[in-house]
Amino acid sequence: MMFMLTGWAGAVAATNFTEDMMTDTATASDLSRTATSSRLRFENLSMVFPDGTHAIDDVSFTVDPGEFVTVVGPSGCGKSTLLRIASGLTEHTGGVCEGNRDSIGYVFQDATLLPWRTVQKNVELNAELQGIDRNERKRRATEAIELVNLVGHEGKYPKQLSGGMKMRCSLARSLVLNPEVFLFDEPFGALDEISRERLNDELINLFRSEKFAALFITHSIAEAVFLSTRVLVMSARPGRLIGDYAIPFGAERPHDIRFEPEFAEICGLINNDLKDAHS
Ligand code: ADP
Repeated sequence: MMFMLTGWAGAVAATNFTEDMMTDTATASDLSRTATSSRLRFENLSMVFPDGTHAIDDVSFTVDPGEFVTVVGPSGCGKSTLLRIASGLTEHTGGVCEGNRDSIGYVFQDATLLPWRTVQKNVELNAELQGIDRNERKRRATEAIELVNLVGHEGKYPKQLSGGMKMRCSLARSLVLNPEVFLFDEPFGALDEISRERLNDELINLFRSEKFAALFITHSIAEAVFLSTRVLVMSARPGRLIGDYAIPFGAERPHDIRFEPEFAEICGLINNDLKDAHS
C-alpha cells in the first residue's frame, strides 16, 4: 500500500478525541525528524509528573522496522504514559525519546468514532483533516476498509457496529495515512475473547502486509506473545523494564500456535515476571 506520508500532528490529533488528549500540548523537543535506523528509540527515559508522581524510570529500548514490541505491566506502571511520550502528547522529563513523528498512527481502547459519520466517512476523516482530495481519500479509505475486513459495512453508523467492528474502523482510519509506526493502547481490551483473538489474527496479517513498526500495550499475556516479536515486562510504578523476551515464532502466526507448548512456556515466564512486578 503506497500512501504519501503526512504530518504527525494531524494523524495523532485525528485519532484522539478524548478530552484530556486534545488539551495536552504536543511538544517535540527530543524527537528528531531525521530518519533513524530505529523507528522509535527510548534511552534512560524517565517521567515525573508536575505533582511528583514518578511514572517511568530509566527505560531503554528500540522499536525497529519490522518489529512488533509489546509492553505488559501492572496497572499504573506507566505504559500509557510511554505511548503518549512516543507520540509527543506528553513531554518526558529525563532521557531520550527519538523517532519519526511524521508518520505515527495511534489506536486506543475507545474507538472514538464520530457517531454522525458512516464507516466510510469515519475512515476518511484523517485524510480529510490532512487536506487530501476527495477521490484520493475515497480510494485510500476503500483500500483500508478492505484491509480490516469491513467491506459491506461502509454505509453503517457506529451505533450499528459491534465492538470488534468499531475497532476495525478505528484501525482503518489510521491506516489511510500509512504510518511507519503504530502505537496501540490496549485496543482490544474491551472485547470478548473470541473477538479479540480474531482481531489479533487480523492484526498479524496487517503487520505482515503493511510492515509498520508497532508498540503495543496489553494486559493479556497471550495476546502479547501471539502478536509480538518482542515482549517487555514493566515493574510497578515507577515503571522499569524487568523482563525482555524475544518471541521465537516466525512472521506467520497460525491461530493454533496459542496451544503450542512453547507458547505456554513463554506465557508462564512472563506471568512469573508479572507476579514479581506486583509484589
Ligand atoms: P498504565 O498505562 O500503566 O496503567 P499510566 O501511564 O496511565 O499507567 O500512569 C502511570 C502513573 O502516572 C499512574 O500512577 C497515573 O496515576 C500517573 N499519571 C498519569 N498521568 C498523570 C498526570 N497527568 N499527572 C499526574 N500523574 C499522572
